[in-house]
Amino acid sequence: MEFSLHANRLSHESGTVQLMEDLEVARQFEGPVSMLGGGNPAHIDAVEQRFREQMQHIANDQTTFARMVGDYDAPKGNSRFITLLADMLNRQFDWGLTPDNIAITNGSQSSFGLIFNLLAGDFPDGNFRPVLLPITPEYVGYADVGIASQPLFEGHRPTIERLPDQMFKYRIDLSSLHIDKRYGAVCVSRPTNPTGNVITDAELDSLSKRCEQHRVPLIIDGAYGLPFPGILFKAAKPRWNTNTVLCLSLSKLGLAGLRTGIVIADTPLIELIRNGNAINALAPSRVGPELIAPLLPNDELLTLCRDHIRPFYETRSAWAIDRVKHHLGHLPIRIHQSEGAIFLWIWFEDLPVTSDTLYRSLAQQGVFVLSGHHFFPGLQDDWRHRHQCIRINFAAPESSLERGLGIIAQTVAALYP
Ligand code: PLP
Repeated sequence: MEFSLHANRLSHESGTVQLMEDLEVARQFEGPVSMLGGGNPAHIDAVEQRFREQMQHIANDQTTFARMVGDYDAPKGNSRFITLLADMLNRQFDWGLTPDNIAITNGSQSSFGLIFNLLAGDFPDGNFRPVLLPITPEYVGYADVGIASQPLFEGHRPTIERLPDQMFKYRIDLSSLHIDKRYGAVCVSRPTNPTGNVITDAELDSLSKRCEQHRVPLIIDGAYGLPFPGILFKAAKPRWNTNTVLCLSLSKLGLAGLRTGIVIADTPLIELIRNGNAINALAPSRVGPELIAPLLPNDELLTLCRDHIRPFYETRSAWAIDRVKHHLGHLPIRIHQSEGAIFLWIWFEDLPVTSDTLYRSLAQQGVFVLSGHHFFPGLQDDWRHRHQCIRINFAAPESSLERGLGIIAQTVAALYP
């Protein structure tokens, strides 16, 4: 079989593919497995119970069930859900949204596939405009979605603040960051996958002002963030205006299997997303919107996040940090401050091998983590730091984490002279 040039994009080694494949490799691994890679959210009993009740309610209602599984939705997504969501966001934040500001996609990963290629790449005036990632490490899933003739991302190196107790924090290096019309868009995940960083309100204000000044859209990836699922362990404000593209998802509520992404943006972009949905997929899935719509008018969704989802991850994060220090504290490690999301980002200073070699050695022992080097899309300089970090998902069961961390400690200790 011969393939078009387009196949090159899909055939080279991709961190996103490895991450998703590992979930399957781990399932088939003979012997005990600690699956600390991937991005699966935790199974939180109280939350799952509420979703199960709601699903049963739909299954018992013949008309709603028949429509949900039997009919295509509108290409822009379920209109009842969109209207209720606009109402909820206006009630909470006074953003002045109309249903024309919201589109549904088949997961926020597909939102990014559309949005990045609509706002960046080759332009009719002959210019190429990349997406600026003002702080890398940044989400690996962005790296390979570009269909343009040149690499789509330009990554910017952060400053590192060393904190007490073997912790550290990345900050956007605002002094060397220049935003101007050369860029098609600027994008940050908040909280950040893989680090658990939450860029501060002041950092976001500064980015937002610079973007508005040059009319460059600011994309905020809120897959873990505000207003839902709200996996943040420090105060932060949600933000939207017509120069902002806010990408949300139902996945980290515990509904990753339903593949529902939400884009909140100015109307012309929403219209293009609607068209992209129709052309690529006819329509987005209607299961997530049907399931969640009844939880919007009374803010029950936000209550679930506040009372169950955030406390679960906050407690788990503190426990995981404690266990990492217990197992690895005697080694030259630092953990990124855990301010949100579901990951710990561990930095092994002066690691004698690359993080990719470490990843492979751990995988052979049934411990699946992610090598940090995948998480620097578009960063040109050869920064040693990018080969010294790993990401672990602390949504995994505690026993699995405990075992995995023990094996990581033994493996890494044997590497240092
Ligand atoms: N953005 C971030 C930061 C993520 O971590 C993920 C998934 O892990 C996504 C977007 C994509 O999520 P989904 O396509 O499930 O909505």
